[in-house]
Amino acid sequence: ILDPDAQTAAGFEAQRQGDLAARTAAFAGAQAEARTADSKHVEVVAHLATAAEAQVALQAGAEGVGLLRTEFIFQERTEPPGEEEQYAVYRQVAEAMAGRPVVIRTLDIGGDKLVAHLQILKEDNPQLGWRAVRFCLARPDIFKTQLRAMLRASVHGAIAIMFPMISGIEELRKVKAVVQEVMSELDAAAISYNKDIKIGSMIEVPSAVMLADLLAQETDFFSIGTNDLIQYLLAVDRVNEKIAHLYDPAHPAVIRMIHQTAQAARVRKIPCSICGEMAGDALYTELLLGLGITSLSMAAVAIPVIRAEISHINLEEARTLARKALKMRTDDEIRVLLAGRHHVRAD
Ligand code: PEP
Ligand code: MG
Repeated sequence: ILDPDAQTAAGFEAQRQGDLAARTAAFAGAQAEARTADSKHVEVVAHLATAAEAQVALQAGAEGVGLLRTEFIFQERTEPPGEEEQYAVYRQVAEAMAGRPVVIRTLDIGGDKLVAHLQILKEDNPQLGWRAVRFCLARPDIFKTQLRAMLRASVHGAIAIMFPMISGIEELRKVKAVVQEVMSELDAAAISYNKDIKIGSMIEVPSAVMLADLLAQETDFFSIGTNDLIQYLLAVDRVNEKIAHLYDPAHPAVIRMIHQTAQAARVRKIPCSICGEMAGDALYTELLLGLGITSLSMAAVAIPVIRAEISHINLEEARTLARKALKMRTDDEIRVLLAGRHHVRAD
């Protein structure tokens, strides 16, 4: 708004003050457990893009790490990091979290995340290309080194391994077979690791949602990557500004997919988290809990606000809200429904 009149400016200033007050209050209550108004615990964890962010996450009240993006260890250098260097990073995060869960994602390179020394050539459709587990399965040298480092670090905390971009059962079995292979090698060398380490699958490709009932039988937990899921489901490149208005978390198809995934997880009694940006937007918190999501992973800065939002939510009401949303036909209808309900401003 260019040259706002005094009344408009005053309106925005009042809104800004309200936002700041809400944020300050939310940070003050950050160390309390995240509980709904009807006293149900919701796990609120942080995603980290570097090991150094672990302390910030704890200060913000994170109950652990829901997504450690490991790409940072591979970027801004001329060759892949070795096992010792990676082990030190994973151990550092696990120790900082002192027994809290730490979900480490295997290398999710390619697509929008490039690393020069890995020689991923320019592709016509990088988002549909040689990325994540597709890359790792083609480069077992890099993949196994990372898995060895993660497994060795698993004796220092509650580390879980998570695979990005899983699109079906065969792929899941292949990556799990590589984990088994690395475990056997560690056994042969008498190197210790957590033999019960949890292995989870990201759900961020629509085919994985359609097969969620089957994937849930062969994985210990789900984490829905809404950033990519929305991109692939709605055919909207997540980094193309021209079509950014079409990238819509409130799209009815997105809501249905989250529901389908959460239900498949519930049937097999495995946890189902969200680790895309949607988890850090208070507009969606009640809906996500109502759809059956049991854990939310977000940037540390969003944690206090989401915890505060959770404290206003009644789980039964959330389920009723989700049932209503699932019957809606357009994103506008869903947005109006949600806007009338969320309590703490997140922006
Ligand atoms: C996602 O796709 O939602 C996700 C968490 O992974 P990234 O944003 O790193 O692709
Ligand atoms: Mg992703």
